[in-house]
Amino acid sequence: MPKPTWNYAPFWQEAVTRMQQELPEQEYAIWFSRIQYTDSEEQKLILSVPSQFILDYVAEKYLHPLQSLLTELTGEPIVISFTVKTPAKNAKPPQEPPQSTSNKEKATQSKTTPEAVQKPVRKGQQDTNLNPLYQFSSFVIGTNSDFAYNAAMAIAKNPGVSYNPCLIYGGVGLGKTHLIQSIGNYIQTHTPILKTVYVTAEEFTNEFIQSIPNNKITQFKNKYRKVDVLLIDDIHFLQGKESTQEELFHTFNSLYETNKQMVFTCDRPISELKELTARLRSRFERGLNVDLQPPDYETRMAILKKKCEEQHCFMSDEVLDYISKSVNTNVRDLEASLTRLIAYSDLLKKEITLDIAKEQLKYSFALNKEQSLSIDVIIRVVATHYGISPYELKGKKKTKSVVQPRQIAMYIARDVTDFSTTEIGYEFGGRDHTTVMHAVQRVEGLIKTDKALTTTIEKLEREIISSRKG
Ligand code: ADP
Ligand code: MG
Repeated sequence: MPKPTWNYAPFWQEAVTRMQQELPEQEYAIWFSRIQYTDSEEQKLILSVPSQFILDYVAEKYLHPLQSLLTELTGEPIVISFTVKTPAKNAKPPQEPPQSTSNKEKATQSKTTPEAVQKPVRKGQQDTNLNPLYQFSSFVIGTNSDFAYNAAMAIAKNPGVSYNPCLIYGGVGLGKTHLIQSIGNYIQTHTPILKTVYVTAEEFTNEFIQSIPNNKITQFKNKYRKVDVLLIDDIHFLQGKESTQEELFHTFNSLYETNKQMVFTCDRPISELKELTARLRSRFERGLNVDLQPPDYETRMAILKKKCEEQHCFMSDEVLDYISKSVNTNVRDLEASLTRLIAYSDLLKKEITLDIAKEQLKYSFALNKEQSLSIDVIIRVVATHYGISPYELKGKKKTKSVVQPRQIAMYIARDVTDFSTTEIGYEFGGRDHTTVMHAVQRVEGLIKTDKALTTTIEKLEREIISSRKG
């Protein structure tokens, strides 16, 4: 007896047409252009998709609706099975030139999505504005960053599904740009069909402002409202920029409604941003907010080792230990110190000894003699003592409960480090050196009469110095 052949292809076509009528255009174009009918078996429809990521997403979202639709259409209890079928050509997306990527996209586009064919979803990697050097693989995870790293990775694997929007906040040089761009680069590599755009808040603002007199506002709106993944770095820049905030608010709503992924970074928690409209603030506070803290000693060591490895240079553990103990502000300073030593070693063809490292880093901006103390530590210790956040301490709030601890922290910074008032002002949220001078004079005046305050300051200074040694 001949084996019966099953062919559910026509039912599949019908199901696709119905889904198209039901789903938002963009959603349909993105996901259904990736699903291809492959085969039929008894009461079973086999569909293929180009990657595991798409399979996971499509299966979670559409498996049940599609099964019931097909069951209804065929009158049989249909089961759908998805398989991953990587396009044979250009199967390895990471290093693909843009040209071959669009070939691949054409190869997997189904006939049913003319709009996706007409408009290649991604023209080329240059469109994203991403720097390919920022990758998850080069990010060293420590207790200061593991939560942010994991959230970023989860987003990169499932954009628009969980943690949307996500805000990564933390001080300068702690890896915000590295993480947000890693998300973009990961998505570009693993799900290039998604249109990803990375932009700094400053670029976003400039682009918006320039679009107004040039009658390009529609173009601007289209650009940002038609992405699948929008990554905006340094949103603190938007403070006081009302019309840009207004525009971003609408962009946000439009993307949010269609489950597009948004990630932002900021140098402080949203609650501490000033001159931000309440409605945009509430948007940023939605979703997940994660912070990056300065790395501890072990993480600093791990980061230095990784950077040495990447640059194929050798530094003894003794030297790395010295750098890690001396530079405790942030990763950028850590990198700069290492770069300086590598340059020295390259130029003079000398191996870096501990003495050379000490000599070379003596003048480095982040170091102060043997007793190098980071202002961050001072800020943290003083803030904790007064029950406020380090951000508040560095921030602009002028209430008495914040002003006095801030002045005390500035006084301590002047007392126990060799930082100039200009440098201290910079570390305290970009203040002028005269503010620091004023703070120092004020606290000097206070401790003349206030015994309790003197004791407190001494205690804080001891704590700061011992935390530095530890
Ligand atoms: P931010 O945007 O927070 O100011 P960046 O992301 O620009 O900081 O980081 C500063 C430098 O330190 C970059 O060169 C970045 O690659 C590096 N960096 C930051 N955090 C890490 C980390 N955890 N592992 C490896 N490199 C890091
Ligand atoms: Mg940055």
